[in-house]
Parts: sequence; structure tokens; C-alpha cells
Amino acid sequence: EQREVISYVVALLGANGVGKSALISQFMTSECINAYERQKDLGNQTVSIMLNGEESELTFQNVTNSKELDRTNPPDAFVVVYSVVDKASFSKAKTELITLENADLLRSRTVILAGNKIDLARSRAVSTQDGKCLACTYRAKFIEISVGINHNVDELLVGVLTQIRLKSLQV
Ligand code: GDP
Repeated sequence: EQREVISYVVALLGANGVGKSALISQFMTSECINAYERQKDLGNQTVSIMLNGEESELTFQNVTNSKELDRTNPPDAFVVVYSVVDKASFSKAKTELITLENADLLRSRTVILAGNKIDLARSRAVSTQDGKCLACTYRAKFIEISVGINHNVDELLVGVLTQIRLKSLQV
């Protein structure tokens, strides 16, 4: 019996330079969760993931400004990325979360706040606690990652899909 593969769209939001493109590239090469059938088209990148015996397709969009989002057909999930060495990018992340809240997308969509570049520990400007607090305020999930040293990147990818599946059960 052939089961239908469900496709989801994941938008990465956040300031320039926080590592969104690098994160998408790293997702494409993920080894530990059977990610395969990588495609690149029109700047969007799609990966198929087998998780808990079920296959899903995730397409990633790098969106620097959430105002560019298509309100009539919003993505299934948002990963709001900032850099822990860049305070301004943390402010920008907060602005993005407020925009999502104002568009009434926090309730219906998966939102994950991701603090990147934790390999640059000596230059850290945003504490883990501040990240957690911001995520909590907007009922988002929180994770700290380093694309540079491939820390927590697979965990984030699995987390995105897991949260999407949980939300889709609540409708
Ligand atoms: P975008 O503008 O958000 O798409 O950011 P990019 O993906 O282009 O990354 C901006 C710069 O940050 C690039 O030079 C990356 O190599 C670098 N970068 C991304 N992630 C990390 C990380 O985890 N650690 C370090 N040290 N550098 C990173």
C-alpha cells in the first residue's frame, strides 16, 4: 500500500547574516534521519524525511523580512533565527515574532526560535536565558544551534517536523 507523502513549507525568518542559508544547506546534507531526494528549484530547497515510519517533504524558504510573506497562504512552520553574537539580530527576531502574532499565525503554525553560532562562545552577546524568555513569551519552541560545527541542526530539523505533525492533529 502506497501512502501519500505530505509536503510542508518552512519559512526561515531573521536578520541578514545570522546563518539562514547555511542552515538550509546543512538541512540538505542531514545524514541521521534519512533525508534524501534533495532538490533545488527557484531558490527553495526541498528535502524528504522519514520520521517515525512516515515520510514527509519539507520545503525551506529563506525570508529575510516577514512582511514579504504571503498572508493568504502562509507557510506551515516558521524558524526565527538570530545569532547569539549579534544583539541586533535578537531584536529583529523579536520583531518577527510580533509580526507573526499580529498576523494571528502563532496559534495555528509551528514557530521555533533558534539561536545560531553558539560555537563563537567568547563573543556571545545574547544569553541562553534571554532566548528562552523570548520564546516563552510568544509560545515558541526554543533551541540553540551551531551550523558551523553542526550542533543541534538535526535536532532542529526533527523538531520542526514533529511540531508540524502535532499541530496538524489539533485542527
Ligand atoms: P543569512 O544571511 O541568514 O542567510 O546568513 P548566511 O547563511 O549567509 O551566513 C552568514 C555568515 O555566517 C556566513 O559567513 C556563514 O558561514 C556564517 N555562519 C553561519 N552559521 C554559523 C555558525 O554556526 N557559526 C559561525 N561561526 N559562523 C556561521
